[in-house]
Amino acid sequence: MNLVDVHAHYTYKNFQKDIDETISRMEKAGVKKVITNGLSPKDNKEVLKLASKYKIVDAALGIYPTEAGSLSDKELKEILKQIEDNKDKIVAIGEVGLDHHWTKDKKKQDRQKEVLREIIKLANKIKKPIIVHSRKAEGETVEIMKEAKVPVIMHCFCGKAEPTKEAIEAGFYFSIPTMIVRSKTFKKLVKRAGLNRLLTETDAPFLAPKAGERNDASNITQSITKISEVLEKTEKEVTQKIYSNYKKLFT
Ligand SMILES: [Zn+2]
Repeated sequence: MNLVDVHAHYTYKNFQKDIDETISRMEKAGVKKVITNGLSPKDNKEVLKLASKYKIVDAALGIYPTEAGSLSDKELKEILKQIEDNKDKIVAIGEVGLDHHWTKDKKKQDRQKEVLREIIKLANKIKKPIIVHSRKAEGETVEIMKEAKVPVIMHCFCGKAEPTKEAIEAGFYFSIPTMIVRSKTFKKLVKRAGLNRLLTETDAPFLAPKAGERNDASNITQSITKISEVLEKTEKEVTQKIYSNYKKLFT
């Protein structure tokens, strides 16, 4: 099996105790690579550490949208510099994006957009794909992401019909969370996007197949089963295609 998890947070505190065991469990399940995504300057440092320690872990550096909404110009500059300084150690920029579910304040929402635009400029410059969060702002996120000249991966995308159509037409990719086993939204998305545009993710420790459990990439076998059911293809075919999509974008 060649499984990949393109969006997760293995620096999260509830992995600290047993990260060695978690990594070997994932390897045993056939996981070839996990891309752990940074949420803040501090977390980005931890992400780099984790990626240098484990071969299976690759790094993406980012700034979580809810934090992006309150950044000063100076802080934004520092984050952009942190990402650029480490460009040879990362495979993508993420997690970045817009979140209007947790951020209701209009000024902060506007700031999220400004930050995202700066991130896109940097990604275009250093030629790294972008892993994007969008919540209650899917249409606006898709619109802004069209400014990217690098691959765009919409993580855990729950947009309605129109933004989904726009994202597909713009050539974006979708990383499907393990939550697909209990979510109609993602089954629909898989069907609409088609295998050529799909990747797999966990968003670990969150969004486990069983609500409330801690998630990790060994659960991706369950996503593969579900995606092959939805697309009426063999698990082997689905696994291989998703792995080749991953390789095309991140290696
Ligand atoms: Zn995430």
